[in-house]
Amino acid sequence: METADILVVGTGAAGLFNALQLPEKYKVLVITKSEADQADSFLAQGGMCMLLDDDDYDSYFEDTMKAGHYENNKESVDIMIRSSQHIAQELVDYGVDFQRDENGNFEFTREGAHSENRILFHEDLTGQEITSKLLARARERKNITIRENTTLVDIICDEKANVCKGGIIRNADGTLEEVRTQAVVLATGGIGGLFQFSTNYRHITGDALAIAMRHHIEVEHINYIQIHPTTLYTTKPGRSFLISESVRGEGAYLYNKDGERFVNELLPRDVVSQAICKQMEKDGRPYVELSVTHLDPDFVRNRFPNIYRQCLKEGYDMTKEPIPVTPGQHYFMGGIKVNSDSETSMDGLYAAGETSCNGVHGRNRLASNSLLESLVFAERAANHIAETVEAGKPMPTDEIPFDPAFYADIDEKNRTEVLKAIKRKDEAFYDQWLDHDA
Ligand SMILES: Cc1cc2nc3c(=O)[nH]c(=O)nc-3n(C[C@H](O)[C@H](O)[C@H](O)COP(=O)(O)OP(=O)(O)OC[C@H]3O[C@@H](n4cnc5c(N)ncnc54)[C@H](O)[C@@H]3O)c2cc1C
Repeated sequence: METADILVVGTGAAGLFNALQLPEKYKVLVITKSEADQADSFLAQGGMCMLLDDDDYDSYFEDTMKAGHYENNKESVDIMIRSSQHIAQELVDYGVDFQRDENGNFEFTREGAHSENRILFHEDLTGQEITSKLLARARERKNITIRENTTLVDIICDEKANVCKGGIIRNADGTLEEVRTQAVVLATGGIGGLFQFSTNYRHITGDALAIAMRHHIEVEHINYIQIHPTTLYTTKPGRSFLISESVRGEGAYLYNKDGERFVNELLPRDVVSQAICKQMEKDGRPYVELSVTHLDPDFVRNRFPNIYRQCLKEGYDMTKEPIPVTPGQHYFMGGIKVNSDSETSMDGLYAAGETSCNGVHGRNRLASNSLLESLVFAERAANHIAETVEAGKPMPTDEIPFDPAFYADIDEKNRTEVLKAIKRKDEAFYDQWLDHDA
């Protein structure tokens, strides 16, 4: 058995930022299911939104609400937007290098459904820049231990008293171990690994969601799942490669099989995805085409070096020819229900990042709001813990008996539970995007 003050589950933007923002007096154990840099946060291409100035507030608020079909929690949106400038500054303090102009001021790009250029970026590798710096800082901290290839299979809790007391983890060698802590922060990301076509890492499978449902912890909008309009079409198995919305933001066009545009490329993601699906059906092809051939080739290569390289690897020179794109699962707007301090419905249990639902994205997330949301609400969880949890409090060392046989096929059990919950809530969505799993 192991003890710590705080157990943080996940090494994406939410988990790492939470661990770093916790006061150093806490003994913090961070676990992650795979290698520490195998988190969706490292894959983010487009960037991270930041409020430009006071004049931008109404427009940023409206863009977020409109993309979310006005189902967003307004308090969460307000908190996220108002926190964005200090979060950007904290990232810079941790060593993050955002694109700047010749005067040293931030440069901003734009993506679909934004009415202003308000997205901070680092080439088309913004997530890697942010998250690798956070990981480097976390590794330097004496109070933080990171254990890789270590999976949370359950929480330890007293359901009657509604208190979380730690977690049951599966170590790299397959052994199960109890970790007793005062608080647990779930930052396990989305659910893309449940889908055949997704931009997410395959091991990101909504484990925390299944654990929450098993213990009657509230979840919300489990069917609010974002399908991104443009992933690179391929017949190869594995993670789909994302063609960032910022490519359309910088002027790319979508074409049908006759080389005609069929949709305004900068409409919200769900609208563009639907238009592409309809067009693919009409065309009788599993993809449509995305073209930047009318843009300056040097600009394309410099602005999107990662996407350009990946397309070349797949046999397409995007500066000379259109590339085939198709919609794929990308993001989960629903999740474990949390308040504005990222507290779940169980005491001592927090959730932040994509696995949580504070309602900020409504029914559909606005581009580049999710790294920001992960960071803002991970920090708020850390602040709440700092106010309520005493550091170094002796942990009970009595082991709480559990049945190892129950965890023998836990990955399959979790997967089935989440898929069943999606189907119960939204059969049409399940049939369209998940029926291969039925
Ligand atoms: C290709 C791509 C591009 C994107 N581009 C952008 C963008 O430009 N801007 C933007 O704002 N957002 C973007 N997003 C979304 C954004 O990256 C994610 O929503 C956000 O990073 C989620 O962060 P997170 O910390 O919640 O989860 P993640 O970064 O996914 O981290 C989850 C962590 O939990 C761990 N984990 C999972 N289950 C367990 C378990 N049972 N036990 C232990 N550990 C576990 C994983 O190993 C991982 O370390 C993009 C996403 C993808 C996939």
